[in-house]
Amino acid sequence: MSCISSAACIFCKIIKGEIPSFKLIETKYAYSFLDIEPCSKGHALVIPKYHGAKLHNLPDEYLHDVLPILKKLAIALEYNIDSPEGKSYNILQNNGRLGHQVVDHVHFHLIPKNTEKDGLIVGWPAEKANFDDLSLLHKELLKKLED
Ligand code: AMP
Ligand code: ZN
Repeated sequence: MSCISSAACIFCKIIKGEIPSFKLIETKYAYSFLDIEPCSKGHALVIPKYHGAKLHNLPDEYLHDVLPILKKLAIALEYNIDSPEGKSYNILQNNGRLGHQVVDHVHFHLIPKNTEKDGLIVGWPAEKANFDDLSLLHKELLKKLED
């Protein structure tokens, strides 16, 4: 098994089978299981088999399997399938306390949205951008991405 772990981390313990989980899919680089405090029926987690707190801490190879696993789980989830537009769901990955992260091992939530009231409830303080500011930011970012 490919796994760089931390002895104190609850998700590393789940990967190693030291504490139980409702396992769904496991690959060389990732592991998925049901969330035990779901905010909707079918709420699942996908975790890379590498102990890193935030997304940018992970080597790329540990991310390779994550989206294909999320896609498989999304197909398997039959909830809300009768809705006219088909099933709804969100993929969420929190980083840092301000970003609502509680467990410091990177994880991706797959959260079915079965009703208005369950699942992910998004607060999004969007405002129209100032295009001069946006253009400046764009230039800064492109420069950083080149380096
Ligand atoms: P986050 O706020 O993104 O860090 O979310 C952490 C998630 O991990 C929460 O939804 C918890 O319910 C979930 N969680 C914590 N411990 C376990 C566990 N032992 N098994 C399954 N899910 C867990
Ligand atoms: Zn860990």
